[in-house]
Amino acid sequence: MFQTQFQQKVQKSFELTKQDIYALYDHIQYLHAEIALLKEQHNTKEESSSTGTYFASKTGKKAHIEGCFFAKNIKKRVTFETKEEAVKQGYQICGCIYRLK
Ligand SMILES: [Zn+2]
Repeated sequence: MFQTQFQQKVQKSFELTKQDIYALYDHIQYLHAEIALLKEQHNTKEESSSTGTYFASKTGKKAHIEGCFFAKNIKKRVTFETKEEAVKQGYQICGCIYRLK
């Protein structure tokens, strides 16, 4: 009897810890996105007239702009002058284009 109650308490503690970790993870992701956004705002002040602002991964399906949280690791890039051009070439528009522009 005592044993099972103890086990339940331990299990509950683990469950709560797990939830805390997930919450922290969400928060960290949010912070990362926030940092990317701030960097983008900072960068656009310095180089506002660069060409090929839209880009996509050669193997990916979505077009992004500089500062996108999801596109920061893309190395092999295809660039576009406009988002219409990206769409014409079969890419989807990432949410970052609406959020960061
Ligand atoms: Zn994006």
